Amino acid sequence: MTENRGILHTVPVALGKRSYDIVIGDGLLESLGAHVTPVIRQKRVTIITDENVAALHLEAARKALENAGIRVDDVILPAGEATKSYSQLGALLDTLLALGVERKDTLLALGGGVIGDITGFAAAVLRRGIDFIQVPTSLLAQVDSSVGGKTGINTSFGKNLIGAFYQPRRVIIDIKLLATLPRRELLAGYAEVVKYGLIDNPAFFSWLEENGTAVTDGDAHAQAYAVAESCKAKARIVAEDEFEAGKRALLNLGHTFGHALEAECGYDGTLLHGEGVAIGMMMALELSMRMGLANPADLARASGHLEAVGLKTKAAHIGRELDADKLLSHMAQDKKVDAGEIVFILGPIGGAATRKGIDLDLVRQVLHSSIKG
Ligand code: NAD
Repeated sequence: MTENRGILHTVPVALGKRSYDIVIGDGLLESLGAHVTPVIRQKRVTIITDENVAALHLEAARKALENAGIRVDDVILPAGEATKSYSQLGALLDTLLALGVERKDTLLALGGGVIGDITGFAAAVLRRGIDFIQVPTSLLAQVDSSVGGKTGINTSFGKNLIGAFYQPRRVIIDIKLLATLPRRELLAGYAEVVKYGLIDNPAFFSWLEENGTAVTDGDAHAQAYAVAESCKAKARIVAEDEFEAGKRALLNLGHTFGHALEAECGYDGTLLHGEGVAIGMMMALELSMRMGLANPADLARASGHLEAVGLKTKAAHIGRELDADKLLSHMAQDKKVDAGEIVFILGPIGGAATRKGIDLDLVRQVLHSSIKG
């Protein structure tokens, strides 16, 4: 079994001593042992997954690791955002201690962003830090949450407010796993792919305009390319600004708006994270246009593409009664607020920049117009 088996793209994340590779391929789960072995300190791995992914992919992952002589335990958590909680984190840490997981063992997150975020945080605090590997199974996790070391859980005060920057030892991305992902989840993840084009890569945005439906319809080569370009974009930004002192904030394009919509919808499945991001990116573009930072053609291209793949582009499409002032107050709670000011990511396609001191009346108008549809 060679280490390179099935790898189509390798994307390095350059973070000095904490550097690691993202390996991307079609069918990597089958040779998981070969991709894990070079980065583990002893041959013991605990897989953390959720019940949906466990039913589909846990056995294959376990077998692949055992075939490489690795001892495997697993912990199966409930699926869904509610798992990123104090109570689930506490139970997970206790289970890991009861299993006798040691400092030199490795946790392996097999799942979407929920599993990646809670596993990474558990790894950061268990015995003051043990190694972990990301094996993201949702498109959102493959292009975003598994890369860059943000880990954490939610609280009643908001999402992701408790956590740590803690980098994985490797990210192993198997495009084949996307075949079992529900289409709605795939599209939600695709919004984050579009985000990278909008931030600073207009050529990638053009490629997506041409090839986006191949990505969302399951073409493995198009998916691998889109995932690799997204990971490169994220790796580049994270390498420049690991702890979000500046440039990393660009990755939040559309997120302050999107998080407000998610919070208002109550995380009950009405609006998935990526769906909120798609609408939020359109709000950011509309605000940019009203401020003279983008032109109507940017808006038309972005909404045209998001709609072409089947994503919602306006708050009116959510099917909930929404209130602009309530959304604004959620935005003021966002953890990206800096010295009391909401930070916005604004600009034309491929030219996003961080801005503060924005006229909130203008923001209210943008919210109103998206709610009205
Ligand atoms: P998720 O983990 O809840 O996965 C979505 C759903 O898809 C779940 O029901 C899951 O069981 C299912 N699923 C996952 N992979 C599957 C597969 N291959 N086949 C069938 N079903 C599968 O949600 P998500 O969208 O992956 O991630 C959202 C989370 O990521 C949020 O909590 C968000 O805050 C977090 N996030 C973190 C970062 C970061 O940098 N750490 C970035 C973006 C988002």
